[in-house]
Amino acid sequence: MDLTLIKTQTIYAEWLTDKQLSLDVLRLDEVDNVVSGNKWFKLKYYLHEARVGRFSTVASFGGAWSNHIVAIAYAARSAGLKSIGVIRGEKPAAVSYTLAMAMEYGMDLHFVTREQYRRKEEIQQRLPNESVYWIDEGGYGAAGVKGASEILKTIDVLPYNYFIAAVGTGTMLAGLIVASAASQTIVGISSMKGNYSLEQRVRALIGVQHESKIFDIKHEYHFGGYGRHPPDLITFINDTYHRHHLPLDIIYTGKTFFAIKDMAQKNLFKPGSRILMIHSGGLQGNKSLPDKLLAF
Ligand SMILES: *Cc1c(COP(=O)(O)O)cnc(C)c1O
Repeated sequence: MDLTLIKTQTIYAEWLTDKQLSLDVLRLDEVDNVVSGNKWFKLKYYLHEARVGRFSTVASFGGAWSNHIVAIAYAARSAGLKSIGVIRGEKPAAVSYTLAMAMEYGMDLHFVTREQYRRKEEIQQRLPNESVYWIDEGGYGAAGVKGASEILKTIDVLPYNYFIAAVGTGTMLAGLIVASAASQTIVGISSMKGNYSLEQRVRALIGVQHESKIFDIKHEYHFGGYGRHPPDLITFINDTYHRHHLPLDIIYTGKTFFAIKDMAQKNLFKPGSRILMIHSGGLQGNKSLPDKLLAF
């Protein structure tokens, strides 16, 4: 992965200038077409631990369109490790694009029923434990936070007043909080409906050292729930692409960009502020849509 490819894109729009705001997007998506930018950062120290601990294999859990799974497959291969993906749901006749890519990167896939998927410990016990390094679903954990904190080292982030990013497990958000200065505000946009334990889970990740940092998780931009992408979201993503040449994904970043616009229009940012949105990637997941629904 060539992290020097990472740059920012400035968004020019009336809804920003009207409120004296500026918005830059940190294009982690440009790191790779398939591997989500934020996953690459989050996985770095897990892979490091696996190698230091002399594990031969890394393994984790995910769905058929999981950015996490395909990123592990890629990162493990780059680190010279084998990888196992435990996939939720019975093996379909034709696997998703995501899983096909994961297999291409050498991942060994294990399909389990939704019932079995819930009992993760049983699955873990069935595999030869001493040689397998398990990464939590979504990469939640301290090593993930450490890796994600390096996202804000890719550019000069001092001028920004707000960092805004999509939230799944909250690991990336915790990394941003840890890496930010006390005067900067971090806003997370939850892609799930009613996942109110997130605040607590993020607090647990950042630890007492950063407990005075300001962060805010918005729960009203889920568009119906995790993985839901109603027509108004698709229209918004297409419109954003036409106006700004900014490709967004349907699970995370589309909802986040929508939230920024809505929050700007509702005067939720202090006038004169500079905002940095983290484009966390995820574009490969758009391939789950029927052809031609998206303009890119
Ligand atoms: C996984 C993912 C997220 C969420 O990251 P968390 O650390 O789990 O909160 C956001 N955006 C994209 C594109 C992702 O793939």
